[in-house]
Formats: sequence, C-alpha cells, structure tokens
Amino acid sequence: MSVKVPNKYDAIIIGAGVGGLICACYLIKSGLKILVLEQNDKPGGCCASLELGAYKFDIGVHYLGSLKKGILGKILDELEIANLLKVHQFDPVERIITPDGDICLRSDPALTINEFRDKFPQQEKNIKRFFDFVSQKDFFLTVYPKIKKMTFRSVLDEFFEDKKIKAILNAISIWNIGAHADKSLALACIAMFREYVMDPGYYPYGGSQSYPNLLTQFIRTGGSDMKLNARVARILNDNNSVCGVELENGEQYRADVIVTNADAHETFSSLLNVKTDELDKINYLVRSPSMFVVYAGLNIDMQSALDNPANILYFSDYNIDETMFDTKRIFNKDDLRYLMMSFPSLHDPEQCYNSHTSVGLYILANYESPEFWLNNKDRIAGLIVDLANKIIPNLKNNIEKKFVATPITFERFTLNTNGACLGWLPDFERTKLYKIKQRCSIKGLYAAGHWYTGEFVPSGGIPVVSFSGRRAARIILGDLGKQWKYKEIGL
Ligand SMILES: Cc1cc2nc3c(=O)[nH]c(=O)nc-3n(C[C@H](O)[C@H](O)[C@H](O)COP(=O)(O)OP(=O)(O)OC[C@H]3O[C@@H](n4cnc5c(N)ncnc54)[C@H](O)[C@@H]3O)c2cc1C
Repeated sequence: MSVKVPNKYDAIIIGAGVGGLICACYLIKSGLKILVLEQNDKPGGCCASLELGAYKFDIGVHYLGSLKKGILGKILDELEIANLLKVHQFDPVERIITPDGDICLRSDPALTINEFRDKFPQQEKNIKRFFDFVSQKDFFLTVYPKIKKMTFRSVLDEFFEDKKIKAILNAISIWNIGAHADKSLALACIAMFREYVMDPGYYPYGGSQSYPNLLTQFIRTGGSDMKLNARVARILNDNNSVCGVELENGEQYRADVIVTNADAHETFSSLLNVKTDELDKINYLVRSPSMFVVYAGLNIDMQSALDNPANILYFSDYNIDETMFDTKRIFNKDDLRYLMMSFPSLHDPEQCYNSHTSVGLYILANYESPEFWLNNKDRIAGLIVDLANKIIPNLKNNIEKKFVATPITFERFTLNTNGACLGWLPDFERTKLYKIKQRCSIKGLYAAGHWYTGEFVPSGGIPVVSFSGRRAARIILGDLGKQWKYKEIGL
C-alpha cells in the first residue's frame, strides 16, 4: 500500500532565473508557501554576477530597461520593493559608432531624432515619423494593431528608403533581440525600443546580481524556501498531473503546482517522462543565438576617456546587418566588424578597485563543439580585444584580469540549450504558429521565463521575463480559485 507523502509546499519553482523568482514572489504575496530549487550556487541565471579578484562583472544582463515608466517598474511597485533596488540611471543608453560618426540613443525621442538628423539631414522627416510612431502612447491600442502581422523589415520599409538608417536600426535590433529584420516580429523590436531606449539605462548598484538577490530576500523573509546547488532531475507525475520533483541526489519534494523556469527542451524532453504537445512545438521553434564575451579588468581609469557610461555598439560598415550573424566567416577569417561594450564600473565604482575599470566585450555566437572552443577561444578573444583597442586605445595593454565565456559557458551556467541568451528567436513565421503556453498541457505544470513569453512579446530580457513570472502567478492563482488583486499592466 502506497503512503501519501503530505505536500509541504503549495508550489515548487524549478530554477532561480528572474522569471522563476518573480513568479515565486507573487505567489508568496498571495499567501502560498514556495520552494525554489536552483542548480547553481547563486540565484539569477543570466542575471547573475561574476567576481574575478577585485573586479566584478555581469555574466549576462548588463543593464535593465522599463524601470521607471514600464512594466518592470510596475512589477517592483506591486511587490513593494521598487525603492529597495538602487540603480544608476544613464541616458543615453547606447552610443552607436557608425562609419558616419556617433549616434546616441536617448530616452527623449526628440533628442534621438536630432542625433539621427545630424548624420542624415535629408532623412529628417522619415526619422521623426518613425520615432513618433514607436513612442506613441497606449501602445496596445495604437501601435500594436498596425504591426502585429508585420516583420521589422516591413515596418522599416514603410518609413525609410535610406539603406544606412535601415542598417543601423536593424543592427540595434539584432544586437538586442538576436534576430534579423527580415525574420523578426516587429513587435519584439519595437518593444525593445520602448523598454530599453525610451525608459533606459538602469544599472543596479552591486551589479546585476543585486536584482535576483533582492527577490531571494523577499522569498526568504516571506517564509518560503530556496535551495541552491539543487538540480532537479525529474518532474514527478501521476495520471497526467504533476505531484513533485526529484533532485539529482534522489531527494524528493512534493507539490501539486510546479513552475518550470528551466529551458523548454530540458523541461519537456528530460525532466518529464511523458510526451506532451510542447515537445512538437519545440522542434519547430528556433533558438536565439548565444554570445562570446570577454570580461576584462583594466588597471586604468576610463572615466575621462569616455564622456558617458553608455553601452557602445560599434560597426565598421553598413553591411553589418548581413555580417553580424556570419560567425563562421568571423571566426574562420578573423574578420570581425562589430562589437558591443559595457562598462560596469563606470556605473558603480564598487565593481572595481582603485578607480580601475571593468569592461564587457560581446559578440553574438553560434553554438560550436567544445573542441572548437578549446582550439579557438584564445584566438577569438584576441580578435575582440584588438578591435576594442581600436575603439578605446590603451585598452589592450592595461588588461589586468580576463575571463572568456563561450556559448558552452552560458549553457553550463544556465542550462539553456546551446547557451541561447534570449530563449526563442522572435521569428515571424514560427512564433506566430507555435507558442508554448504558460499553463502547460500536463495538469499542475506552469512555465515562466524567456522560453515561455510567446503569448505576449516573444523575446527575452528582464522586463519581459519578469512579466512572464507575474503572468504565471496570475494563471496559477486563478486555477487555485484565488483572487488576483492587481490591475492590468502592459508596454
Ligand atoms: C550574455 C547575455 C547578455 C544579456 N544582456 C541582457 C541585458 O543587458 N538586459 C536584459 O534585460 N537582458 C539581457 N539578457 C537576457 C536575459 O538575461 C534573459 O532573457 C533572462 O535573464 C532570462 O531569465 P529566465 O527567468 O528565463 O531564466 P534564466 O536566466 O535562463 O535562468 C534559468 C535558471 O534555471 C536554472 N535551472 C535550469 N535547469 C534547472 C534544473 N534542472 N534544476 C535547477 N535549476 C535549473 C538555471 O541554473 C538558471 O539559474 C542577456 C543574456 C545573456 C546570456
């Protein structure tokens, strides 16, 4: 006779990425007792930090958007923790170094319009029309109905003929959402402009890790539990309903509600031992690219060399939107023509010591075999550092500490398949057909995080995954017959 083990928890969350943590916080606020299980020794997933001697770096997330006017700010307000996340706000958020000179992206669309107009005076009218359109109030009533069936390419074509402007806007979008304008859903690109440019540039003091740490504190002081170094190996189920999880070490925890914040492929192909509808969809969807990152600690003060701490997106020619994805050519021919840079210590001097500088140097990267990275990692890192040195002279000779992350590093750290950095690619054709729902097809299983945002904005990033955590909590509370006390929020 089987003995029923009593449920100690109302819900178990697999993964302490931001999507999982936010879901936990809302459930706790509604009186539920939660267990969060995380395979790493710290919470945060892609939003965690890395320490290298006296230098601190952000493993993935290097700035937040939508904190004052947008969804992230509203979520932190609802959780009553907005004033506990101390941030350095910076505006402009991005300095785009183009072959025609610098263009800064600023929160005030009028100022961004001026920046573009100075470089492309003959395009003034079109530039203004585009940014006025992107920044319209009541997004879901005014802009969304017009763009919901469009790729970003078709939106750009409606506003511009000029190839250079289209290449710049496409490059910004590729960099931030990982998809080319020809393929990407316009919604994902325009949401990015609203979240990260118009409500821009928030760097958490203490580094990105401060955000998941704050949510962890909320969870623990709310009487719920988080277990680190706890990798879930199996989701237990009984008669097509989930009933608990088993860790790699054999420990079991019971709950009738399980939320997966883990990679979709991992969840539906290895954690669950039953075949579900989601697996078919996963086979049709395309993953976002990963990244190759050099984190460098410089024994110089860069404050005076850069007049502001904006992230830099550099590119050397206007074919950039065609060549950014061609990692084979970049790696095989040593032909790198673009680079993204962030400067944690220029936002928060505590990220360094003695007024030194920490910098992150990023490019997009496809997944390659471990042997490939073993044989080529140093060469590619050298290529990146050489290009960074052209943009900021003296950088190369002053590197005191260095750490290099390949797609394999991201895969190992987050368990996201192929080290994908934003979940699924917001691919126009596929994401409109195959959406993985947050209420999964097996009873009691829910999902939050960047693999499960297709029902609203099919992309990753902290505002969107935070929203997916809130949305999962809302669905769960509804299914449990509990009241949802918050208003609608949107872009
Ligand atoms: C290099 C890089 C730069 C980025 N820059 C930015 C940026 O500047 N701004 C921005 O907004 N976004 C940025 N992003 C995107 C953003 O970080 C992600 O979209 C977001 O953090 C994903 O959150 P998530 O909740 O989906 O989960 P993830 O961060 O993927 O976390 C999932 C968690 O689940 C855990 N887990 C998985 N499987 C198991 C298991 N079986 N058992 C236990 N635990 C498990 C993992 O260890 C991990 O902690 C960046 C991403 C990368 C990689």
